[in-house]
Amino acid sequence: MITAESKKEFYQAMLDKKTEYEGVFFVGVKTTGVFCRPTCPARKPKFENCEFFKTAQEALLASFRPCRRCRPLSHPYQVSKLTQTLVEAVEANPEKRWKDRDFQELSVDASTARRQFKKRFGMTFVAYARARRMGLAMKQIRSGEAVIEAQLSTGYESSSGFRDAFSRIMGTPPTKQGPYKILKAAWFDTPLGPMIAIADEETLYLVEFVDRRGLEREVERLRQKTKARIIPGHTSPINSIEKELKLYFEGKLREFKTPIASLGTPFQNQVWEELKKIPLGETRSYSDIAAAIGKPTAFRAVANANGANQLCIIIPCHRVIMANNQLCGYGGGVARKKWLLNHEKGI
Ligand SMILES: [Zn+2]
Repeated sequence: MITAESKKEFYQAMLDKKTEYEGVFFVGVKTTGVFCRPTCPARKPKFENCEFFKTAQEALLASFRPCRRCRPLSHPYQVSKLTQTLVEAVEANPEKRWKDRDFQELSVDASTARRQFKKRFGMTFVAYARARRMGLAMKQIRSGEAVIEAQLSTGYESSSGFRDAFSRIMGTPPTKQGPYKILKAAWFDTPLGPMIAIADEETLYLVEFVDRRGLEREVERLRQKTKARIIPGHTSPINSIEKELKLYFEGKLREFKTPIASLGTPFQNQVWEELKKIPLGETRSYSDIAAAIGKPTAFRAVANANGANQLCIIIPCHRVIMANNQLCGYGGGVARKKWLLNHEKGI
């Protein structure tokens, strides 16, 4: 998160077009929906309309699109034809999920594209496209229920742009009356990046980092299991977890009390219960967990159940490491896992 002081400093750097701030921050302009590099030649927005980000990915996830004038996704004075083509292709169809054959259609070699993109922007092209896509779907979630209520009252038919972007990820939005269950989704910021929480009035179903790999599939699975429609909004479990996570990140909370739903298979639920028993500041291996639930040979299945956890941090799947003490994969990224483990040692 960026401090109020830094925001002022960044804004001044924008006014002065200071080139040394290139790459230090990006600025999203709320009135236009674009994000820019610090030295964009366009007219400067008012301070209150600026939102600052440390990476382009964060700006995309916050639903801003790259500015056409300053091209925040290319290095100054140096635009690779290939990356430019790719960024334009995403802008032409930001909801698309990219497959290898899509690169062929653009006459772009998929592996070259991956390499070049990663080298220039520090993220893969697929991560870029995902961030842009998620950002679109998250736009309504970030701006909250006021927007959706207006749309509910006018009917979704009149706002098909919204429907497309949102429903690709969150499912078909509900019509006014319907017999189905409603879940609400909210967005909040944390020191490790934005998170999304999904809950009904009683329990929490999902908490994840917005840029987590596989989040779209998770949301899809959740919708299928609960037969629910998801709309932006807050419920008491969402308010509660937001508060608890804030305290957790400040090092002031050791135990989560927000009620959570267990939607796993009996085996998954058993593993998740076991994960909750790992004390703060400690770690276990997959084999430890397998032994603890009385299935010592099932460590692979334990690893899968660990990965299927949708309640990031609350069910501490980050506290499971390999038998040789190496950190292994983490849906939210290994850097976050490391951060969380270090942080918990100090609580
Ligand atoms: Zn710009």
